[in-house]
Amino acid sequence: MAYAYVLLDADDTLFDFVKAERHCIHGVLERCGAASPQAEQLFVSINQGLWRRLERGEVSAERLRVLRFEELFAKLGVSLSPQEGAALYLQFLAESCFLLPEALGVVQTLARRRIPVAVVTNGFSYVQHRRLQLSGLLPYLNAVVVSQDLGLQKPDPALVDLALDRLGCRDRTKALLVGDSLSSDMAAANNAGVCGVWYNPRRKPRPQGQPFYEITRLSTLLHLVNHP
Ligand SMILES: [Mg+2]
Repeated sequence: MAYAYVLLDADDTLFDFVKAERHCIHGVLERCGAASPQAEQLFVSINQGLWRRLERGEVSAERLRVLRFEELFAKLGVSLSPQEGAALYLQFLAESCFLLPEALGVVQTLARRRIPVAVVTNGFSYVQHRRLQLSGLLPYLNAVVVSQDLGLQKPDPALVDLALDRLGCRDRTKALLVGDSLSSDMAAANNAGVCGVWYNPRRKPRPQGQPFYEITRLSTLLHLVNHP
């Protein structure tokens, strides 16, 4: 099967989110005089837990934005208000653009082969749009769908449906959804009836009986696609 449409997740698929998150939380904690590797790791775990809850529909994106700083600052005894921490973090994040090494080359190759490509990302609209603008990827993308624009997030298939629509894809069996997350990306692919490609560079164990491709390098994706 040659696939002719590609949907790409952004964070930890195109962008090095681990690096961006560390950079931004370090900046926030430095302002509060509370920067340390332990405090940064605490934020990472709080944030990951809340994003999983967001995917399950247990917390809204707007609530998550501040709640992660309420929890962090309460544990660290920081005097900055959680609202200020949240705003500062997103300001840093909107300006931090660390692409993974193969991302630009893969997206450029897809564009050269005239494969329609959309980015489908869970995140805050102005932050994700700004980072994509800074990344140099935008000229090669045919559509960008950010969860906050819809008020829904992956694994909800509505994001995939909108991206396919914007790409003019009438046959979803010809589409691939590529991403690093089983709970958002592979679940969204499954819910939307498109083929998933799990980007798994750290070679995490694969769950049993899941019908998606698995790649450890983004460029391997190029073997799966062909212009119709
Ligand atoms: Mg991701």
